[in-house]
Amino acid sequence: MKICFATNNHHKLEEVMAVLGGTFQLLTLDDIGCKEELPETQPTIAGNASQKSSYVWDHYKIQCFADDTGLEVAALNGSPGVFSARYAGPQRNSEDNITLLLKKLQDSVNREAQFRTVISLKLPHGEWLFEGIVHGSIIMERRGRGGFGYDPVFLPKNHMKTLAEMTMEEKNKISHRAIAVKKLVDFLQSDDFVEIQNMNPAS
Ligand code: IMP
Repeated sequence: MKICFATNNHHKLEEVMAVLGGTFQLLTLDDIGCKEELPETQPTIAGNASQKSSYVWDHYKIQCFADDTGLEVAALNGSPGVFSARYAGPQRNSEDNITLLLKKLQDSVNREAQFRTVISLKLPHGEWLFEGIVHGSIIMERRGRGGFGYDPVFLPKNHMKTLAEMTMEEKNKISHRAIAVKKLVDFLQSDDFVEIQNMNPAS
């Protein structure tokens, strides 16, 4: 089955492909000829995921899913949350974002944080949401060269390595996105999905 993953982030693409395996033929935005930047102007993570998948469906009529992720830090009342990508400014630079985060937390004893991913799946018959959360903490300094975004400062609960010190395989066993993708795959392989596919689009 062909399905589009509405992202231009090649790290995300690799992570998701590894979890999906060979069951689905994953199309990228490039594959469907979508060159424009997808809108992400909603006030919530779920809202942004939904906005991106709806955009692809409305403009390209291809079944697709989109994810949106936020880092939620307890001592910062859940920030940066939906603003994670542009925390340090519109340039969306991960190095700057981490530097700002470490500065804001420099006097904080509470370092608890979580990554939350929401995937929105958009099909002709409607939309389905899948959530994945990984709990952990923000360490004092960057560690590791793998992954992307805030990975170098995120230490998952009950682990010794940051997400950036893990291999992709290790990250995919525990990550917020992998958890959400597994829920998506379970749905796509369920009888419910077969029934939905067989429904008349007009019904
Ligand atoms: P978005 O889902 O691309 O909007 O991600 C929002 C922000 O969270 C960006 O700054 C990403 O770099 C960061 N981010 C998303 N997923 C991850 C991840 O798996 N690890 C670390 N940072 C991430």
